[in-house]
Amino acid sequence: MAKRVESPSSINTFKQCPRKYYYQYVAKLPQLPNIHQIRGNIAHSTLEHFYDIDVMQFADENYEVKFKEVIQQLFMHQWNKDYPRLHKLGLGKDQLKFYFEETMLMLMNWVGHFIVDIDKVKVNGTSLPEAFLQLTPIREQKYVSDNYSVQGFIDAIHHLEEEVHIIDYKTNARFDMKEAIRLQLAIYSLLYQEKHGILPSKVGIFFLRHKLKMINVDEELLDLAKREIELIHLHTSATEKIEDYKCNITPLCKWRTGQCDFYGECKPHE
Ligand code: SF4
Repeated sequence: MAKRVESPSSINTFKQCPRKYYYQYVAKLPQLPNIHQIRGNIAHSTLEHFYDIDVMQFADENYEVKFKEVIQQLFMHQWNKDYPRLHKLGLGKDQLKFYFEETMLMLMNWVGHFIVDIDKVKVNGTSLPEAFLQLTPIREQKYVSDNYSVQGFIDAIHHLEEEVHIIDYKTNARFDMKEAIRLQLAIYSLLYQEKHGILPSKVGIFFLRHKLKMINVDEELLDLAKREIELIHLHTSATEKIEDYKCNITPLCKWRTGQCDFYGECKPHE
């Protein structure tokens, strides 16, 4: 059987519950859209387009206010663009308002950190447009490895003097580098190294409710990615039978406000 092209999400899904992986990636059952996924997309699009703005109109006296205005406008634009999808979720008006405000706060938090970074670059006399250019990352890059049969989308790649930093944005409530996140970053490092022949110096997550958290890239991190990629291929290349993808029944099957996308099909508690 041919090797599937895996990704950090598919590998983490397999590790969380092999049956869920089966439903999503082998049987390809449809998934229900949810507010966390849609507002995550909106936040990502807002940040992606933020770096396209023309800062030539901004002056040293007003750039803080201008950056804040721009991120709000971009967010409103993305939110309205996605409104038909948001509306279909059937959430109440108050709930939608809550998610709108919460996402806006996350982006305002992010832009606050961005302004601090701009100030740091400007302190040595760099002009605002130059500082903005220096901090502008390569965005939304798809990396595919035929060798490892794995792919990933990297949100932002920053080239800072001698260093390369890879960053993913997350709207997660929790500010910790849990195992799944570490594996995602390990796979990005491996993909980057394979394509460019050098290791990124650091990889990290910008937790939009909090701040940036980075880790160093080393051989141990690459070994983690290689090991997990090999393990999943060993399983998923060997069988596509549902019974070979065991249910892992945990609180992630159903919780107070939601459930696994495949709960109805799986019926884990019957
Ligand atoms: S409901 Fe639970 S056991 Fe079933 S696929 Fe989803 S996570 Fe796995």
